[in-house]
Amino acid sequence: MEPRAIGAFLDDHKLTFKRDFPLFDYTTFRIGGHADFFVMPQNTRELALLQGFCRQNHVPVFILGGGSNILVSDAGFRGIVIHPDLGEEFRIVEQSASHLRVFVPASARAPLAGKRISALGFQGLEFLTTIPGHFGGSIIQNAGCYGHELTDSIVSVEAVIDAEPRILDKRECAFSYRNSLFKQNPAIWVSGATLEIPAGNAAEITARIDDYKARRIASQPKNRRSAGSIFKNPAKEVSEKKAWQLIDEAGLRGVIEGGCEISAEHCNFIVNNGGGKAADVHALASLIETKVFETTGIRLEREVVFVGEF
Ligand SMILES: Cc1cc2nc3c(=O)[nH]c(=O)nc-3n(C[C@H](O)[C@H](O)[C@H](O)COP(=O)(O)OP(=O)(O)OC[C@H]3O[C@@H](n4cnc5c(N)ncnc54)[C@H](O)[C@@H]3O)c2cc1C
Repeated sequence: MEPRAIGAFLDDHKLTFKRDFPLFDYTTFRIGGHADFFVMPQNTRELALLQGFCRQNHVPVFILGGGSNILVSDAGFRGIVIHPDLGEEFRIVEQSASHLRVFVPASARAPLAGKRISALGFQGLEFLTTIPGHFGGSIIQNAGCYGHELTDSIVSVEAVIDAEPRILDKRECAFSYRNSLFKQNPAIWVSGATLEIPAGNAAEITARIDDYKARRIASQPKNRRSAGSIFKNPAKEVSEKKAWQLIDEAGLRGVIEGGCEISAEHCNFIVNNGGGKAADVHALASLIETKVFETTGIRLEREVVFVGEF
């Protein structure tokens, strides 16, 4: 579809958007080219309208949350990037001495939501305070760490499917390790989720948050731009080893390409040392895939989503 016709549709429906918009500032890698259109829908109705338009007109579309689990191509994205702007505030659905039910919009910052909900004295979201990105991205990804995953707390997910808002029961969402129905099917757009978490001891909740933060600081590359773990850990039946061990054993720790590096501190991270390009990250990720396969016969699966042409 002609860019002029896309612009006219967005103007006609008074949607908030920008043209030829640089994406690098919206990614934790600080890498990536421009999007033809960058649209910020303010509610589920606008999300549904956009989904119907893109589908009907075969317009390439990508949903961007906090940009902490993606690599955007140096050439950017030809089509529409949607950055939901549904607000930051969570809504308490039900609260009792024993539990809390809360709806969190997709555009809420996940670590902030985790911190603010934990501060109400309910436990189970302490881990989320250490995972960057937006809440929608953490649902898609079934984000997790330190033995916890978001699916542990999810009751239902609000999503746009076939240009209609729907509520999916958790069982319909097919959550598994860093995976979900939404990750498998990018045509489904998430607008939020309802969580239920039990009451906890305030001091213990705070202690857990402090412990997780300290573990992060100890284990992650410092002062470097990244998108977290580049590869998923292999399933236990495939290998008892974590992805970082396989990468380390392939001799790839600290390998540099252009402005990027297979982190010497945590070798399942690729870091941007400054001036890095998406092509550098892509070359390093491909090198890891090839070398790990040659040395172990294991095909690592990417956790980070590559956006645009590579
Ligand atoms: C330093 C660092 C540490 C990290 N540690 C962890 C960790 O311990 N555990 C962990 O699980 N992850 C970790 N991550 C990865 C990342 O933070 C999480 O996966 C996060 O939940 C991604 O959310 P996001 O909003 O940034 O998603 P984005 O990067 O914006 O998008 C990721 C994917 O989700 C899709 N998406 C985003 N929002 C929506 C939506 N509303 N509807 C439909 N699709 C959508 C995108 O299209 C894309 O395919 C880390 C990242 C960094 C940089």
